[in-house]
Amino acid sequence: MKLESVRGMRDILPEEAVLWQRLEGEIRALFALYGYKEIRPPVVEPAELFARGVGEATDIVHKEMYVFPDKKGQMLALRPEATASVVRAYIEHGLYAKGDLAKLYYLGPMFRYEKPQKGRQRQFHQYGVEALGSLDPALDAEVIDLAWHLMERVGLSREGLFLRLNSIGCREDRPAYREALRAHFSARREELCADCQRRLAENPLRILDCKEPQCQEAIAAAPKSLDYLCPSCRAHFEELLSLLGDLGLAYTLDPRLVRGIDYYTRTVFELCSRELGAQDALLGGGRYDDLVEVLGGPPTPGVGFAGGMERLVLVLSQRQPLDAAAPDLDAYVVPIGAEARRKALELLAQLRRRGVAADLDYLGRSLRKAMSVAARRARYALLLGPDELAQGRLTLKDLRTGQSSSLLLGEFLANPRAFLA
Ligand code: AMP
Repeated sequence: MKLESVRGMRDILPEEAVLWQRLEGEIRALFALYGYKEIRPPVVEPAELFARGVGEATDIVHKEMYVFPDKKGQMLALRPEATASVVRAYIEHGLYAKGDLAKLYYLGPMFRYEKPQKGRQRQFHQYGVEALGSLDPALDAEVIDLAWHLMERVGLSREGLFLRLNSIGCREDRPAYREALRAHFSARREELCADCQRRLAENPLRILDCKEPQCQEAIAAAPKSLDYLCPSCRAHFEELLSLLGDLGLAYTLDPRLVRGIDYYTRTVFELCSRELGAQDALLGGGRYDDLVEVLGGPPTPGVGFAGGMERLVLVLSQRQPLDAAAPDLDAYVVPIGAEARRKALELLAQLRRRGVAADLDYLGRSLRKAMSVAARRARYALLLGPDELAQGRLTLKDLRTGQSSSLLLGEFLANPRAFLA
């Protein structure tokens, strides 16, 4: 049997991993600039957490979650998202008792049994922030500003992106809106796809999310959540829009945006790319003012977003193809002869301890072949032959200019950086 990776779960090979590392670095640095601290919840959680937090009837839990019993029969899940985990940890460790906002971020793999396609995997990676403890619309604006800022920072221009924004109100507003949708869609039941007919009974809000062509007309005519907001949700949303205006952040009001997770209240948004196909959402988020309570904590509002690493990598590598040939080393050590090789191993160990990225040939290549590897992988070649050994020197060759210079080994090792650009 040929062993291959599981469908929808892919290897990120070294040349692509370089881009991941850069992005992860940018993401961490930016989150820290906004005062978020990292949290690393486990990948496996009680299945119940997501059933209660994300919602039993959502596609994520109902159809896509990897669930399995452990050896004692406890039902576990591979996390399909991290907000519920972060909130569980927030409650479990009493982070609310610290008397301040908890601003947390995470990076890591998530799992959903979805149909794999471009921009959609079964193991994918999300970065995200969660700000727990305030209802202030300024915090919604901060989170949206952070999302925009992140895109700029990784090199995506505002023109290629758009922000979809909506408010779906609080739990007091929801029943009336749900009923209005139910009445609207019930009258047009025959037009709807089979999934939406089921959603009509379970949660008519999710019909708004449907991409099936046959449902689009009924969706376009559906009642809008903004018309069902209570005065306080309306004021919250208006304040958010005004703050986004002050910050010069563009948005498109999208009455269809409800997002496929039950815990959202009030603000929901998605930042999308014009350069991706059907799966165009780079990140999505919103408020979840009831989630902490639903999961057993004290009533605590929250707001955050999660973004897909794969989609970011996709857009960035569409613009600039990955460079497999980029040199990864400062220096490649090329010994000539057995005695020089022993000295070279010692030199290598010392260089690495001085922070110089260096390597040498382990395949017994000829001098010519070793030099061609050096030219591909490093900026400098360090040549050690019998003459050099006898004089306690080495030859440093700049592989870009072709210039060589002879250096005293001791002098070079005292401060190799002085000789390497
Ligand atoms: P969600 O947790 O569904 O709100 O998704 C947030 C973001 O995660 C999306 O905007 C995508 O960028 C990414 N994402 C969600 N599901 C997948 C998936 N199956 N494969 C790749 N990225 C995903």
